[in-house]
Amino acid sequence: MKTKPLFIVLSAPSGCGKSTLIDMLLQEYSDICYSISCTTRDPRGEEEDGLDYHFKTKERFEELIKEDAFIEYAKVHDNYYGTLKAPIQEVLAEGNSMILDIDVQGAAKVREYVRNLPNTDPMKIGYVDIFINPPSMEELRRRLEGRGTDAPEVIEKRLANAEGEMSHAAEYMYQVTNDDLAIAYKRLCDLVDALSGRM
Ligand code: 5GP
Repeated sequence: MKTKPLFIVLSAPSGCGKSTLIDMLLQEYSDICYSISCTTRDPRGEEEDGLDYHFKTKERFEELIKEDAFIEYAKVHDNYYGTLKAPIQEVLAEGNSMILDIDVQGAAKVREYVRNLPNTDPMKIGYVDIFINPPSMEELRRRLEGRGTDAPEVIEKRLANAEGEMSHAAEYMYQVTNDDLAIAYKRLCDLVDALSGRM
């Protein structure tokens, strides 16, 4: 079945199950690709170039900025991070969909970029942004503490960040609350199916 190529921008505070939901979508929908960001930071642990990130030198990254190659980029702790336009354009031109996992500041830049595109641009035609909400701050705290990976002060910082991110939820076209993974995933699939004309 021929479906409409979507440009899906997904944001969520950490601990909302965003990575799990994205992994489930990518497993089920072979026509959805995941946008791999560029960064100037060094690879950590098992990270692979072209899989986790496109690792670039600072010089190369700055060249790409000059070439206007990024849909958005940001400097975080002295390192650049950015999303290239070309892979998104290529995926959509092939009739497939692209999913971009990005924080609310990055999503706001992408939204503004897309808003200024001509109405005939495939990125604008297929654009959809979705915010994943945690069930409640109490539950988010329970999940972050349950992971057992973060120190208490890191958890407090993540919770404060989550509140900050959630204050932008209304800027998104759709919101999905992840109180139950199976239900949240079903809602996400229903959205993707309806928007891509898979129904
Ligand atoms: P990390 O170095 O831990 O992989 O990521 C650090 C931060 O960079 C995270 O907050 C992550 O969301 C952000 N980040 C990763 N890729 C991009 C991107 O393409 N654009 C922007 N603006 N931020 C990104």
